[in-house]
Amino acid sequence: MTATILLVEDELDLVRTLEYSLQREGYVVRSATTGKAAMDLLSAPGAFVPDLVLLDLMLPDMAGTEICRRIRAHERTRNVPVIILTAKTEEIDRVVGFEVGADDYVTKPFSVRELSLRIRAILRRAHVEPGDTGASVQSFGRLRADGEAHRVWVDDQELRLTALEFRLLSTFMARRGRVQTRETLLSDVWGIQADVTTRTVDTHVKRLREKLGAAGEYVETVRGVGYRWRSVPDAPGETD
Ligand code: CA
Repeated sequence: MTATILLVEDELDLVRTLEYSLQREGYVVRSATTGKAAMDLLSAPGAFVPDLVLLDLMLPDMAGTEICRRIRAHERTRNVPVIILTAKTEEIDRVVGFEVGADDYVTKPFSVRELSLRIRAILRRAHVEPGDTGASVQSFGRLRADGEAHRVWVDDQELRLTALEFRLLSTFMARRGRVQTRETLLSDVWGIQADVTTRTVDTHVKRLREKLGAAGEYVETVRGVGYRWRSVPDAPGETD
């Protein structure tokens, strides 16, 4: 199946370079150079739903974070993976990007090859969940997760998880009772990463825990090593 990528970027040279390279790799690329053009494409009749969005943060008419927020707010596009393209390197901007539901980011200038590897890793994981055991719906204490529909409920309240948070949760649940190091999570949940640090794992686990609310305690911190999903809901293991 050919994946369609929506590129939202106002630097024309970069748009041309990426269109050329990604098309050569077999992707269908549609580009928007303004936030409005992107939103028009996404909300046009005929329901264009990209397999992935590459999103510049600094656009002439709209902040990329706002576009990301809107993509997440719409039922049709809420599970579409978003990679942020940013010239900013401050940790705070990454955090804001993740806050609004981005799955990954690359810092400009980046190599097309690096971006392409990340796209491939994200698309692969969007289609095959690491925690896929064949059973679509899993229950664990207060939590219920539907792996096919990408939906999660805690105490029958549905949560809104990003695609990345869902992968993180699925990975934890599939490996319950087993300690997962930050490095393992980085490679299995994020895919090939050049400059994502293990701190990113901590940021996302913290956010996932917050979203899980009462079920957040199922993710235990194993000091100096990483994280572990409890073997059984009511039996805390050794934590810090
Ligand atoms: Ca820009």
